[in-house]
Amino acid sequence: MTRKSKQKEAILKTIRGTTLHPTAEWIYEGVRKEIPNISLGTVYRNLRLLKREGVILELDLAGSISRFDKEAQNHYHFRCEQCDCIVDLDEAVNTELNERLTRQTGFQIFYHRLEFRGLCNGCQS
Ligand SMILES: [Zn+2]
Ligand SMILES: [Zn+2]
Repeated sequence: MTRKSKQKEAILKTIRGTTLHPTAEWIYEGVRKEIPNISLGTVYRNLRLLKREGVILELDLAGSISRFDKEAQNHYHFRCEQCDCIVDLDEAVNTELNERLTRQTGFQIFYHRLEFRGLCNGCQS
């Protein structure tokens, strides 16, 4: 395996090894255990690549640090306002909404992101 593909593999393994929806920095810290001399820039470059290839998702809602998602298929999330955890929700994506808004606005809509905010179970107690 080339150095490049080894780096990419390690990054993907780190994302797939967690349900945390980690930040690039978190992924970087994880990958460094395997490849100590990897740079944060390389991690960012590979994350962009994996995103472009449709392997992972970037959750880049306005005003917050990007989080990365091993599940590339669009899905909804819950984000805790206290601990900032992001959890996948078992709720079908409403594609009818895209069509309705296209009819309404004329915009070509590719997808929508939906994030519910509140307190997770751990933060409520
Ligand atoms: Zn919480
Ligand atoms: Zn997710």
